[in-house]
Amino acid sequence: MNSKERLLNMRVANRKRVMVTGGAGFLGSHLCERLLEDGCDVLCVDNFYSGTKDNVAHLMSNPHYELIRHDVTFPLYVEVDEIYNLACPASPIHYQWDPVQTTKTSVHGAINMLGLAKRTKAKILQASTSEVYGDPEVHPQQESYWGHVNPVGIRSCYDEGKRCAETLFFDYYRQHGLEIKVVRIFNTYGPRMHPNDGRVVSNFIVQALRGDDITIYGDGLQTRSFCYVDDLIEGFVRMMGSPKDVTGPINMGNPVEFTIRELAETVLKMVGGKSKLVFKPLPQDDPKQRQPNITLARETLGWEPRVRLEAGLEKTVGYFRNFLAL
Ligand code: NAD
Ligand code: UDP
Ligand code: UDP
Repeated sequence: MNSKERLLNMRVANRKRVMVTGGAGFLGSHLCERLLEDGCDVLCVDNFYSGTKDNVAHLMSNPHYELIRHDVTFPLYVEVDEIYNLACPASPIHYQWDPVQTTKTSVHGAINMLGLAKRTKAKILQASTSEVYGDPEVHPQQESYWGHVNPVGIRSCYDEGKRCAETLFFDYYRQHGLEIKVVRIFNTYGPRMHPNDGRVVSNFIVQALRGDDITIYGDGLQTRSFCYVDDLIEGFVRMMGSPKDVTGPINMGNPVEFTIRELAETVLKMVGGKSKLVFKPLPQDDPKQRQPNITLARETLGWEPRVRLEAGLEKTVGYFRNFLAL
């Protein structure tokens, strides 16, 4: 074997084996892409509950990418170095469609993936959520806030499932010494969001492109802050690469806050067309305000979002225009 071949062999042997559960979903597909670009061997695990093969079709020909259809509520035996646990439907329409399965995915899924991490000594990152803060009484939300969550409402399967998953991560950390990373994601948007999943950015863009009414729930004065997907993925990768004592929970999101009405007006201006703003009832337990405090991410990871809302929306509108062939 000559030295060039030896070097090549070493590189192949040293490729990090990274598993992404929920890898065929919106965030997961972008993460798989990024990890392949970074030279990892990527194993995508998904049961296609809310994700699709189309999201990752462009990766299938890459020999360093593997896709397995598997439900994380069942045990899984594979050998990996790092795990990003994203499996869980994220939009209210999807997670409320089968709420028992949603809790099982968060809780049984976390137990199985933590068991796998324990056996393989893999680092494991949990995609948690700002929903662990519920309808917050503290604004903006920082990691030390324990939240204000209804345990018996229609959002509880998701919120409480994610809270229990965080508990499991910290118990595996304390009890078994696992290397854990818990990220609390705030509203993130971008290409490959599901067009019918009811989330506000995809809803407004699809409605505007089709010339349908833009549906504002409540008075539209509730606020959210929207993070572009590329910024979030950069945060994930930095978090995974952080020192062992950086466990989180750590907020990731964009601290620039907008009202839902402002978002509707921005989308309408960008897309043009004849859509009208219409007002519909506010869903139960809909949080009034949400804005992340990202001081911890700034200080520990040097991370903050870079993509401005207009720039991110342009890319997302371009994706949906093409996807819907409009
Ligand atoms: P998504 O619905 O597009 O992706 C979730 C993926 O998980 C899908 O591909 C789905 O098929 C898969 N999945 C669901 N149940 C599974 C199971 N039992 N076994 C295997 N795969 C399963 O949603 P997303 O926006 O990409 O969210 C990814 C993760 O990030 C979720 O855990 C979500 O809770 C979290 N998150 C997302 C946001 C956001 O704004 N997008 C905000 C907070 C948290
Ligand atoms: N598990 C898995 N893959 C593995 C190791 C474990 O799916 O490689 C699952 C296994 O089904 C178990 C769960 O993870 O129920 C928790 O594992 P742990 O070792 O913590 O618990 P125990 O096996 O003692 O119940
Ligand atoms: N929303 C809206 N019109 C829609 C979809 C959502 O006004 O067509 C509102 C929704 O009531 C909420 C906000 O937009 O106040 C964000 O909703 P989304 O489901 O995207 O995220 P989450 O509520 O989980 O933050």
